[in-house]
Amino acid sequence: MATRIIRTYEDEILRKKCKPVGEINERIITLLDDMAETMYAANGVGLAAPQVGTLRRIVVIDVGNGLIELINPVILESSGIQQANEGCLSVPGKQGMVTRPDHVRVEALDRDGEKFIMEGDGLLARAFCHEIDHLDGILYTDLVEGELEDVEFDDGEDEETPEE
Ligand code: ZN
Repeated sequence: MATRIIRTYEDEILRKKCKPVGEINERIITLLDDMAETMYAANGVGLAAPQVGTLRRIVVIDVGNGLIELINPVILESSGIQQANEGCLSVPGKQGMVTRPDHVRVEALDRDGEKFIMEGDGLLARAFCHEIDHLDGILYTDLVEGELEDVEFDDGEDEETPEE
């Protein structure tokens, strides 16, 4: 496993639409492993393949309850509304208010090629939406209400905005 370089805001690869994964081969498995390692090394809660320069429909997420790997994810259903500050590993040092559904149901393949369905509320629902947007070239900065703000570091008291 290895960490990969996280592409940032100006990189136009972040604006491209990703292709579905056909065969889950060794390269895809290595990519999944590297994406998880890269996400954890950056203290993120989610990472999408284009953020490490690969235009494939692959996402990893960990909002604190273990690693979730999604290949070719599709949102089947969403409901409710939540509003919170959001951040992105590709837009370092910034955050902004984004409205998202509060409950999301996703279908995807796992690394063995098995289809599964997963539901998420709150932060997990937000992460599903944020990461799947990445696969279509959409950044949260497109959806932000008001201005992007600088993240203030280190009094250690405020809740940190999760970066995805
Ligand atoms: Zn992001």
